[in-house]
Amino acid sequence: MNLYRGCTHNCVYCDGRAEGYYVEGEFGRDVSVKVNALEVLRRELDSRGKRSPLQPGYVMVGGGVGDSYQPVEEKYGLTRKTLALLSEKKFPVHILTKSTLVKRDVDLLRKINETRKVIISFSFSSTDESISRIFEPGVPSPQERLETIAFFKENGLACGMFLMPVIPFITDTKEVLEKTIQDAKDVGVDFIICGGMTLKEGKQKDYFFNILQRYYQNLMLEYQMIYKGSQWGEAIHEYSDQLHQTFNMLMNLYKIPKRIPPELFKDVLSENDLVIVILEHLDYLLKLEGKRSPFGYAAYSLSQLQVPISTMLYQLQTIKGVGKTTEKIIQEIIKTGRSTYYERLLKGDL
Ligand code: SF4
Repeated sequence: MNLYRGCTHNCVYCDGRAEGYYVEGEFGRDVSVKVNALEVLRRELDSRGKRSPLQPGYVMVGGGVGDSYQPVEEKYGLTRKTLALLSEKKFPVHILTKSTLVKRDVDLLRKINETRKVIISFSFSSTDESISRIFEPGVPSPQERLETIAFFKENGLACGMFLMPVIPFITDTKEVLEKTIQDAKDVGVDFIICGGMTLKEGKQKDYFFNILQRYYQNLMLEYQMIYKGSQWGEAIHEYSDQLHQTFNMLMNLYKIPKRIPPELFKDVLSENDLVIVILEHLDYLLKLEGKRSPFGYAAYSLSQLQVPISTMLYQLQTIKGVGKTTEKIIQEIIKTGRSTYYERLLKGDL
């Protein structure tokens, strides 16, 4: 849920400034406030008059085109009002922010967590203060974000680190990655999710290159070698594979889950979604280990299914992409709510 468009955090790498998101004005300065967001949300959450009931699941209060806890939130309070509504309607909430302002809402977050679940995730490109000052000029420092994680953990709330974007040749070295993962472990994060940096042609790339030229001129050539103008702006896969290998090796060392662990979602999702999410996680984890996986395709096929998976428990192999191994895993999930194979892989025990 984007409650604001535009973001004065003004991260240099932010893809919210790419033309494809149609954010008007100067991205790091002009912020549109969705003043009717609450009214729309109240209508959307009202099940009366809806043909099919709302699917259970987390409501993600994040912001791809504007942090929901950026400074303008102090004035408008849209995020706080949203949390109050979600609390009233008993929805689980996942917050993704870079701001320490989220501490203001600890009362509401604790209240939601008493009946439903809450996850508070913070994004980092690394925990290096000097790099953050260049690339995240309007954001509380990494140290302040780490302290905020420790604060929420002390309040009994689950916290994650979104280690994204990892900035090529700057925060992707083994040393910087390891320090970041160690810092995250020290404050007790429940998981770390890693993602590379996209650079879409146009405003986003121009803005980023301008700063790169100023502070890291020697890296210009390397960047041109890995960003070849692909449609979604991602780096070439040789680079991404290398990054994910290093990340995986370090995460296995520190024994931190590389996806949101099942205890945080197993009671929240519908039966079908639980199976799909676990299969998708399995697919990611196996590929991270450089292995082949049938689970992504199976998850996709199951996402098209219109009936509860439990009604087909013994005909699962009639579904495209579901073989014998996948069938066994699905049967275990439906019967016990968990997959032991997945849990071991998530912990790096396999
Ligand atoms: S906080 Fe998020 S939305 Fe805001 S500028 Fe940074 S990356 Fe973009």
